[in-house]
Amino acid sequence: MQYKFLRFPEGKTKAVTFSYDDGAESDIRLADTLTKHALKGTFNLNSSKLLSGDGLSVEEIKMHLLDAGHEIAVHGEFHKALGLCSPLDGIKDVLNCRLKLEKTFGRIIRGMAYADSGICNIQYGTDYTKIKLYLSDLGIAYSRTLGGDNNLFRLPQDWYAWMPTVHHDNPKALEYAEEFLEIDCNEQYYARMYPRLYYVWGHSVEFDRKNNWDRLDELCEKLSGHEDVWYATNIEIYDYVQAFHSLVFSADDTIVYNPTLVKIWFNIDKQEYCIEPGQTLNLFI
Ligand SMILES: [Zn+2]
Repeated sequence: MQYKFLRFPEGKTKAVTFSYDDGAESDIRLADTLTKHALKGTFNLNSSKLLSGDGLSVEEIKMHLLDAGHEIAVHGEFHKALGLCSPLDGIKDVLNCRLKLEKTFGRIIRGMAYADSGICNIQYGTDYTKIKLYLSDLGIAYSRTLGGDNNLFRLPQDWYAWMPTVHHDNPKALEYAEEFLEIDCNEQYYARMYPRLYYVWGHSVEFDRKNNWDRLDELCEKLSGHEDVWYATNIEIYDYVQAFHSLVFSADDTIVYNPTLVKIWFNIDKQEYCIEPGQTLNLFI
């Protein structure tokens, strides 16, 4: 049996992504900064704010977020903490948000970030298993949580509890970025050759409140422009990892078939492979 390590598009070993909440006006400056550095982010929106005049307008979202290749995702119609809602109220908050965003922007929206305390504080007759189940039933592919540092830079084991690496205001954010950039996934001890992800989250209004937009500039300058890093939105990372897990291997690992529509890179025995959509490859020959 061989270890099979995912490699991101073009055989890259690392990925960077951003996730920002609440659709504030200052998201424009944030999105434009990411775009300038060829970074990608996911913007989590509350559907009740869309036409309220509070926060980003539909036109601003189209121009600064979507046209620049960023993702928009569900953040609850009324920003409800799902851990404190009955399943019925939670379902309504998520589904109404998804329906409104999809109708307004004419695209399929499957990403999400938990609003408020999310799944950190669970009471009042719900539990995490129920929440995860109804999110899956509602067509939500992943949901970002909070409350810890993921400075091992691992991809999530549970996509409904996707723990980011760091909040941008965390004093260790830049230190973690340096550690992340220094990792050479191809020179690691064999079992540690897995890919790494650096994932930043926050609210753009925090840069206004603390008057520390220079922190974003510094982080973007440090993280951008690396040849071994894939810059992607949350859903792009989710979709690529799902495609990788869809690869079909023969029992002795000598033949692999790619049933997806995605070109996929992987590494076996320190040998890199790339498989086209629909292709069958004979390995080790
Ligand atoms: Zn929020």
